[in-house]
Amino acid sequence: MGKLILFAAPSGAGKTTIVRHLLKVIDSLSFSVSATTRAKRSHEQEGVDYYFMSPDCFRQKIAAQDFVEWVEVYANQYYGTLRSEIERLWMEQRDIIFDIDVKGAMMIKAAYPKETLAIFVKPPSTQTLIDRLTARGTESAESLKKRIQRFEEELSYQNKFDYILVNDILSHTLQEAEKIVLQFIQDGYAHYERH
Ligand code: 5GP
Repeated sequence: MGKLILFAAPSGAGKTTIVRHLLKVIDSLSFSVSATTRAKRSHEQEGVDYYFMSPDCFRQKIAAQDFVEWVEVYANQYYGTLRSEIERLWMEQRDIIFDIDVKGAMMIKAAYPKETLAIFVKPPSTQTLIDRLTARGTESAESLKKRIQRFEEELSYQNKFDYILVNDILSHTLQEAEKIVLQFIQDGYAHYERH
């Protein structure tokens, strides 16, 4: 069975950049495409970035127990990992990398404890996070405020993770991420203290 590599972080911590980098440099990795009900952004592709669906469709899948984990982040804004997605990639002998929120990460780790490495990415400070989100330009004032509130909440989970990766200088972070993920794929928990 392949490994599950979870990257959770407050958005703006640089997690997406790290996940994309790892997908480029580590051959055995595939991205776990999540389901979501949020609106598709212009550069995003169905089935590549997310499986986009209506809230009703998402709720039907919850009822059918199709999800390993799911969250409703804001009213009617759901994100979740389909069991079928993990099974599909495992059938293809892949290791799977996830871009996921902290609660979802903990649920996957609980469901697959032996196969999972959970990595928490964090910016060096709250101000760095605010600067990065502002520079990205995708956030309204209201959504920026919501994201900062979530950031404070998400930080409280960091010690439940196997590894905390502080994203200060990106090139260093990418190297460190590559090293720990490759080590885990090869040797499992030999290098880690479990929480
Ligand atoms: P975005 O809307 O910017 O693509 O993602 C918002 C947040 O949802 C990010 O923190 C992302 O990691 C998280 N997310 C994406 N997919 C999933 C998923 O399948 N499950 C959970 N729990 N969170 C997810």
